[in-house]
Amino acid sequence: MFEFDNSYARLPENFYERIKPILVKNPKLIRFNKVLAEEIGLDLREDNTKLGKIFSGNLLMGGSDPIALVYAGHQFGNFVPQLGDGRAVLLGEITNQNGSRFDIQLKGSGQTSFSRSGDGRAPLGPVIREYITSEAMHSLNIPTTRSLAMVSTDELVSRETLLPGGILTRVASSHLRIGTFEYFAALGDIKNLKLLADYAIERHYPNAKESNSRYENFLSLVCDKQASLIAQWMQIGFIHGVMNTDNTSISGETIDYGPCAFMDFYDPQTVFSSIDRHGRYAYGNQPNIAQWNLARFSECLLPLINDDSNKAISIAEEILENFSIKFKKYWLVGMCEKIGLTENIENHHVLLQELLQLMQKDKSDFTLTFRYLSDAIKNKSSQFEAQFSSKNEIASWLIKWRESLEQENKSEGAIKKLMLAINPAFIPRNHNVEKAIFEAVNNYDYSYMDRLNMVLNKPYHYQSGNVEYMNPPKNYNANYQTFCGT
Ligand code: AMP
Ligand code: MG
Repeated sequence: MFEFDNSYARLPENFYERIKPILVKNPKLIRFNKVLAEEIGLDLREDNTKLGKIFSGNLLMGGSDPIALVYAGHQFGNFVPQLGDGRAVLLGEITNQNGSRFDIQLKGSGQTSFSRSGDGRAPLGPVIREYITSEAMHSLNIPTTRSLAMVSTDELVSRETLLPGGILTRVASSHLRIGTFEYFAALGDIKNLKLLADYAIERHYPNAKESNSRYENFLSLVCDKQASLIAQWMQIGFIHGVMNTDNTSISGETIDYGPCAFMDFYDPQTVFSSIDRHGRYAYGNQPNIAQWNLARFSECLLPLINDDSNKAISIAEEILENFSIKFKKYWLVGMCEKIGLTENIENHHVLLQELLQLMQKDKSDFTLTFRYLSDAIKNKSSQFEAQFSSKNEIASWLIKWRESLEQENKSEGAIKKLMLAINPAFIPRNHNVEKAIFEAVNNYDYSYMDRLNMVLNKPYHYQSGNVEYMNPPKNYNANYQTFCGT
């Protein structure tokens, strides 16, 4: 049973539209994430037919008060004053035994008044992509929204062709975005802006209340969460693909898996999204874009930070400058750990840059290079060296690296353990995700998807039977593109 407690629906009515999910023809449960259900305190014992009805929105559970949230957002740099949940509804919120609150949202649940020209639906392929990737991100220990269930609708969705439809049940610690703040700020509605900020502080950053400058603290805490999140994306080779302000969560979770993808070989300019023609959201640009997004957020909060706008601006500017400092620190600490170094971090910057430059020149696989480096602490590792064509250069880098390791005063075993715990063997490689989607959508065969999910569930464990999932594709497709399409 869901025991809903819908705090957002108690906010004023201009925060959302009350709307029920639009019925679908013949919902069928594809997968229900029992482990997640347990984590969030959900005890659902219904059979699959009933779960299909619940997770399509055809059957509303008692206590649910479905709403579509309004928000605005900067999309590729351009401000759109009203976006909102155009194909999603928030069924309600639940709280688990630890007191953590979760939004239960259906994505692909039909039109709302925020749909603009969209059909409110989602093709099954992108639903599967979000399920696989968000759960993989969670297993990689990166803050993210989760996937509770997938349903097929037995309806066709019209994109470039007709595609089978699906609905994803997304679990988030909330769906507050920078865009939610931009919506009220652009209207000049300070009263509701303040209400929203107080709600967000209460829900995500209650410590911010402890001083007189709560909104300043709030901004600083959101910046800190984003700095940490983006550093983690960078350390794992994740490219979000649409870092618009409406896809930037206030809680600091990765949200809105559209054209996201993991990088195979290292190149900071990597872009997969078909709509990102100028590389605004390229891998290497993500920290700058996060700061740009946070600058938009800080503009919204100015009237709350200080009545004197000049004072408010200088406070916000300082916090934003701090974002760069914090990001660099998170990045450097994490990257140093990836190469087994935990002390005198600042001294290792050059060593790291040299490795990354070589990786870029030699198109080394981002994931495997770091994973196999842990075999090279004392010995030669042919798998590590195979990632490089510049044999002499990587050999001299290894000598310098080993000298730095010597200064750590740790055993080989301890260093290796650290490295294996932070450098995954398994990431959701694009060719594997595509194969899972293809088999599911075209052949109604979910076995490859299940196997992939199982492998990705333990990304840091060497799984001898699943080595093939570690490797990049044999024939790399340089034209590989991902599509927003959910
Ligand atoms: P996204 O880029 O996926 O984060 O979506 C941006 C905006 O477009 C959000 O307001 C979505 O709700 C809306 N949207 C995207 N796809 C659809 C669709 N098929 N129907 C209605 N609205 C959509
Ligand atoms: Mg979005």
